[in-house]
Amino acid sequence: MTRQQTAKPRWSELAVGCAVTEAGSARYNRTGDWRSSRPVWEHAHCVRCGVCQMFCPEGCIQFEPPKDFPAADLEYCKGCGICVHECPTACIRMVAEEE
Ligand code: SF4
Ligand code: SF4
Repeated sequence: MTRQQTAKPRWSELAVGCAVTEAGSARYNRTGDWRSSRPVWEHAHCVRCGVCQMFCPEGCIQFEPPKDFPAADLEYCKGCGICVHECPTACIRMVAEEE
């Protein structure tokens, strides 16, 4: 069953243990709502190795034209900071979300 999620589910709609029960359901969970800080790139030091993209648990980092530097889709970036931790050139930092 696929459900377009326009509002947050009620507790009674959640699977036991909040288990993921359908493939691709993460697309409907706007994990960006969880974020308290966001990644910011310093492109001058980015070597475009793709490590940040490979490690991002949300798969939300894309290389954007015209210069093909990485950027996060903030609808889905949950602010975990894994990209910051894994970047070999330390060109990503986390900044707090504004209220
Ligand atoms: S891991 Fe760092 S250097 Fe590699 S593409 Fe991502 S931001 Fe650039
Ligand atoms: S902070 Fe986490 S979710 Fe956001 S882009 Fe980096 S690795 Fe992905």
